[in-house]
Amino acid sequence: MSDNNHYEVVVIGAGPAGYVAAIRCAQLGLKTACVDAWEDESGAASLGGTCLNVGCIPSKALLESSEKYEQSLHEFKDHGISFSGIEFDVGTMQARKNKIVKELTGGIKQLFKANKVSHLFGRAFIKPEHKIEITQADGKTSISADNIIIASGSSAVEMGCAPLVADKIVDSSGALAFDSVPQKLGVIGAGVIGLELGSVWRRLGAEVIVLEAQENFLAMADVQIAKDAQRQFKKQGLDIRLNTRLVAAEVQDEKVELHYKQADQEHALTVDKLIVAVGRTPNVEKLWDDSVELLLDEGGFINVNDQCETNVPGIYAIGDVVRGPMLAHKGSEEGIMVAEGIAGHPHQINYDLIPSVIYTHPEIAWVGKTEQELKASGIGYNAGAFPFAASGRAKAMGNTAGMVKILADAETDRVLGVHIVGPQASELIAQAVISMELAASSEDLAMMVFAHPSLSEAVHEAALAVSDQAIHMVNRKRKQ
Ligand code: FAD
Ligand code: NAD
Repeated sequence: MSDNNHYEVVVIGAGPAGYVAAIRCAQLGLKTACVDAWEDESGAASLGGTCLNVGCIPSKALLESSEKYEQSLHEFKDHGISFSGIEFDVGTMQARKNKIVKELTGGIKQLFKANKVSHLFGRAFIKPEHKIEITQADGKTSISADNIIIASGSSAVEMGCAPLVADKIVDSSGALAFDSVPQKLGVIGAGVIGLELGSVWRRLGAEVIVLEAQENFLAMADVQIAKDAQRQFKKQGLDIRLNTRLVAAEVQDEKVELHYKQADQEHALTVDKLIVAVGRTPNVEKLWDDSVELLLDEGGFINVNDQCETNVPGIYAIGDVVRGPMLAHKGSEEGIMVAEGIAGHPHQINYDLIPSVIYTHPEIAWVGKTEQELKASGIGYNAGAFPFAASGRAKAMGNTAGMVKILADAETDRVLGVHIVGPQASELIAQAVISMELAASSEDLAMMVFAHPSLSEAVHEAALAVSDQAIHMVNRKRKQ
């Protein structure tokens, strides 16, 4: 193999894990190639993986458009702004979304060029001795690498009882591409995708019914925050049915007929379209030769240690294809960690402080331990919560639903978890990540100065509330 086809690092996958790893490797002076197979509708390469093409970015674009429509319908009149004949055009919303995707995927191409990352379009297959075969439209090529980083991502889980049917029974990618608003929309799974995409189409006028298998709503979130969010969604008209089990879904006469069980009662439901959003599964199929012998975890993820090293020396795996939350920012940080490690600058990630955000309205965001986790592990804590209803800025914005809640260690006062449901929770949570990474106590936060009026003051007041010292609400001890 010629030197031209040998790299110090080959990254497989150009999602937020892989493209970030490739850029950092190149920045660190390593000869790097990134192989990616994603094609846009015209068959051309489109970098950025799930996140940029059919995930984080297009979903947020539609969430923004649909939220603006909902505000214009229900909120602007409180400000004295009235319109008549408010209309929206799904085609324009989709075109805007597609333009944003194109700009960002094109941006990765530019970044690869600027950083001298070789982009190879095709499907990679790992062979023994760190050789990689790439299948392209016009044949196969072979390259080799000192180090291989697998960042092949994940795909939507399919349900045997609800096989996908184009534009009728769809996964998240299909739900991001509807060209009209379904009158009645079913969603299987009240997880992150179900809530975000269910919200998009509800805001645009669909009647949305969400069937969730678990008894508890958003079991991964803090219970108090999940209950508050559930109340808000109910008020908005999202019909979330818990403890349900889908038995069958099939298309009949242009409709989707569902049969499901709830508490052993059988139910039938007819909807115009159905979104299946019951989780994602790691992409490990047809990725390596049997003789490479990479180990998998129980869930089918590539087995890695804290440094994202697999059991095969010189092969790493990052992002959705390995354990941990399936989040773009988690994958990107793993990409940087691995790149730094290969370049001889070992580095680690604090997996305990990866923030989660659900971009509904209100937004939900958290980092660290939930109250139920602290109770289960017997760790003593003090809780402080501050409602946005008591925040001057939230009132001025007309966004008073929700709260900030801080959990601090009962002995040391170190902040152990921060949970937010409310306006701009996705931005506010960064304050919690920074504080917790720097081992702040609730007293540290309480003693800092926050700008007035700002939503951040709710973080300050929640920190004060941990020791019953909040100013703009009645503290627990005073109530007694
Ligand atoms: P991916 O982004 O899946 O990229 C993997 C890439 O590898 C793909 O381009 C794929 O084609 C390529 N590939 C796979 N196998 C091969 C092969 N053999 N050869 C060549 N190329 C290959 N996360 C957030 O943090 N915030 C959000 O707001 C958010 N919203 C989301 C909304 C939706 C609708 C969805 C579906 C996901 C969302 N996520 C969000 C999750 C996020 O998209 C993923 O966590 C993230 O994309 C994972 O990054 P990755 O690089 O590991 O994999
Ligand atoms: P999820 O794990 O968030 O939610 C899946 C939901 O489906 C769960 O509540 C689960 O109990 C339910 N479920 C599973 N099987 C079911 C069944 N048979 N019937 C009814 N309900 C069932 O998964 P998702 O919403 O598909 O999202 C996939 C991944 O993408 C998530 O891991 C998430 O991290 C990521 N994502 C993140 C964001 C974000 O960060 N804002 C947005 C979208 C997706």
